[in-house]
Amino acid sequence: MKILLTSTSFQDYSGTHQERLKQSGFEIVTLRGPVSKEVLIPIMHEFDGIICGDDELSREVIKIGAENKLKIISKYGVGLDKIDLDAAKEFGVPVTNCLGMNHETVSEHTLALILAYFKNIHLEYQITKSGQWKRLVGHEIKGMKLGILGFGKIGKELAKRSKAFGLDVSAYDPYMDEKLASSLNVIVRNGVEELVRDIDILSIHVPLLDSTLGMLNAKTMAEIKENLVIVNTSRALVIDQGWLLSSLENKRIGAYLTDVLDVEPMPEDHPLLKFDNVLITPHIGSRTYESIERQGNMAVDNLLNALDKSNL
Ligand code: NAD
Repeated sequence: MKILLTSTSFQDYSGTHQERLKQSGFEIVTLRGPVSKEVLIPIMHEFDGIICGDDELSREVIKIGAENKLKIISKYGVGLDKIDLDAAKEFGVPVTNCLGMNHETVSEHTLALILAYFKNIHLEYQITKSGQWKRLVGHEIKGMKLGILGFGKIGKELAKRSKAFGLDVSAYDPYMDEKLASSLNVIVRNGVEELVRDIDILSIHVPLLDSTLGMLNAKTMAEIKENLVIVNTSRALVIDQGWLLSSLENKRIGAYLTDVLDVEPMPEDHPLLKFDNVLITPHIGSRTYESIERQGNMAVDNLLNALDKSNL
């Protein structure tokens, strides 16, 4: 059997995930993702399975795979927004992901962005590196109001950690875990407009779906407080990009701290680069050695199960 492996995290960091895939005896072909559909279309007929990252698994790519040998799309990671799930269903190709393998890591990354920004770490690093001793004044986050959009795996981990920092946490999720919210003293909101009103920090943890695409926009964000800081470790397009850019231009929001962009890898002339109050990390929210091995092993398990090699 022949497997296509495109996740760069999986390929670049050794561990049991790599050893187990090697032991499977499959022929492994590697490409460095994210891979475009133009690259995938001519080769997709060759593969029995794929361990993918955020590659363009369009309808055509999946159709070609399904009409040949493709039996499993094993996503390394959580977000399935680059995979045409309707096509996978129509052509009978199972799609799996690694839910619950990186939520702690991503919640830590979210807090790292928040703390870096409010303590000026990003600015002081540049200043001291250039030989200067310029002491900026930051903010305590204790007592700030944090709104969590999407109280799933990552949102919940963020809530737990935020409580320890003394943040005042509220959350909105149509499938709210009321019990956990109550035990953590998280205020439950009934909609996005209700959530974003009267908070200092908004952290986004919803998947990118038709229903969440552009859900943060001029209408839903009409009543935000001045200087709202938005943190995004989810997917860029959950925010209407036109609204985001104009809100930064006219200083309607205080800052944008993000791990995800509308175009990845980031082009050199990306419009967000001109703002001093935008912090960008290159989609590394789940890239820790600990999380890579966990996600890698789950991606391998999912692949082996689908190919009936679950004893390996
Ligand atoms: P999850 O499925 O556990 O949680 C998502 C939550 O969003 C669910 O509880 C769901 O009910 C909720 N939701 C769906 N639609 C909503 C809406 N309209 N309004 C409010 N809530 C809504 O997933 P997770 O593990 O917490 O991951 C969340 C997302 O984070 C992923 O889908 C992925 O896009 C992103 N992610 C990014 C990284 C990274 O490296 N930056 C890593 C992992 C995940």
